[in-house]
Amino acid sequence: MSYPKIKIDLDKIKNNINIILKKAQENNIDIMGVTKGFACEPEIVKVFLENGIKMVGDSRIINLKKIQNLDLIKVLIRIPMISTALEVVKYSDISLNSEIKTIEELNKAGKKLNKTHGVILMVEQGDLREGFLPEEILEVAYEVEKMENINLEGIGTNFTCVGGVIPDSNKIFQLSQLTEKVEEKIGRKLKIISGGNSSSYHQLGEVDLKRINNLRIGEGILLGRETAFGENILGTKDDGFILEGEIIEIKEKESVPYGRRGMDAFGKKPEFKDRGLRKRAILALGKQDFECESLYPIDKGVEIIGGSSDHLVVDISDSKINYEVGKTMEFKMGYGALLRGMTSIYVDKEYKK
Ligand SMILES: *Cc1c(COP(=O)(O)O)cnc(C)c1O
Repeated sequence: MSYPKIKIDLDKIKNNINIILKKAQENNIDIMGVTKGFACEPEIVKVFLENGIKMVGDSRIINLKKIQNLDLIKVLIRIPMISTALEVVKYSDISLNSEIKTIEELNKAGKKLNKTHGVILMVEQGDLREGFLPEEILEVAYEVEKMENINLEGIGTNFTCVGGVIPDSNKIFQLSQLTEKVEEKIGRKLKIISGGNSSSYHQLGEVDLKRINNLRIGEGILLGRETAFGENILGTKDDGFILEGEIIEIKEKESVPYGRRGMDAFGKKPEFKDRGLRKRAILALGKQDFECESLYPIDKGVEIIGGSSDHLVVDISDSKINYEVGKTMEFKMGYGALLRGMTSIYVDKEYKK
């Protein structure tokens, strides 16, 4: 037993999958379960598989490599690096793409490996991360359709990643219209129309999704959150992953730093409110392993003051719990903390079954 550790409750993840899949099925939507939030740990991916998810997406080949023996369609959801074309074709069935040059390399890799690789063409719809421009997509689709070792599976789009742009009926209409134009151009139907991530979840049952038949869901499954408005998905659990850290110091200290002040460890100048003497605790965990801004103490009487590489400082003055050095404290995690914590070698992972 070592700290910090992330305690993973597979039943809660199962619960979230069931709720999300049911809602998706009622609306004729397939769910691609996105696994990057937990580094594609096979133990958790098995829960995805056992509960009806047939397709998983991860941003890294090294993660997809871990689940080669699981009977799932594996999708690389970060557009591929040309330098990894062979591995992409070897370890994933489908990849999301936005560069014709890269797809040509995947085609070559496919020839070498005597394998057909599926591609989903991403379309830029305003969030300004990856995607072909709508005006180039028809020509690209036509070219890709001719490639011998590439199978054009469909088209997709991305929202609320860089620009914070939320999917709406207008975007859905545009994507559906593009789908039909592409189909006309290549003379056949597309299989997958992937309409976004957890930020599209709130659309289910609310608006007509037209041709969209797939959503890529990570945070919704892991933390029960739709990400357009940051709301909890009804019936889901947000505590399937709990961080437990050990307290290494408790002292009453001033609430405002004293002495001549420059920058903190990360080049910032933090502001502090003077609240007099406060009881503070230090936990043995920090920014190396977690995004401290997305840690949420389970004890409502605890407030996070700040973190450095290896320390998290919290105010415990208002807590009803009698904390002691050597005891632990628990936190819920946001996506940022989860991503980093699950990939950190300094963080223990423990499964509750
Ligand atoms: C991370 C990611 C997702 C999943 O996003 P969530 O907000 O976790 O649902 C979907 N698609 C792409 C391309 C991603 O990078």
